[in-house]
Amino acid sequence: MSKVCEWCGSAKIKKMDKTVYWELPDGTRAVEIKETPSIQCLDCQMIYQEEALIKQIEDQLFLVNTKNLPKVFTYKKLMAEERMLKRNYFDFSDLEGY
Ligand SMILES: [Zn+2]
Repeated sequence: MSKVCEWCGSAKIKKMDKTVYWELPDGTRAVEIKETPSIQCLDCQMIYQEEALIKQIEDQLFLVNTKNLPKVFTYKKLMAEERMLKRNYFDFSDLEGY
C-alpha cells in the first residue's frame, strides 16, 4: 500500500474496512460490498480504496457470475466466488465422469 494519502499527500493514513457501493459491470444493479479494505486519511478525512484494489474488485465482478451474487456481501466473499471459466471447466469434468 502507498505510504501517503492519494488526495493530500499526508502520511497520516490508516487502514480500515468500509462498506462500498458498486455498480455491476453490466450496469443492471448496484451491490453493497462490506468490509472492503480502505484507507482513511486523518488529515483530509478522505476514505478511499487504492487503485489496485478497485481493479481487483472490477476484474472479479467481471469474471464471476453476478446473477448469483446477493445484494449485500463482504469483500472476502466476493474474492472467494468462483470465476466462471473455472466453473465451466469443472462442469465439463463432471460430464466426463471424473
Ligand atoms: Zn489526505
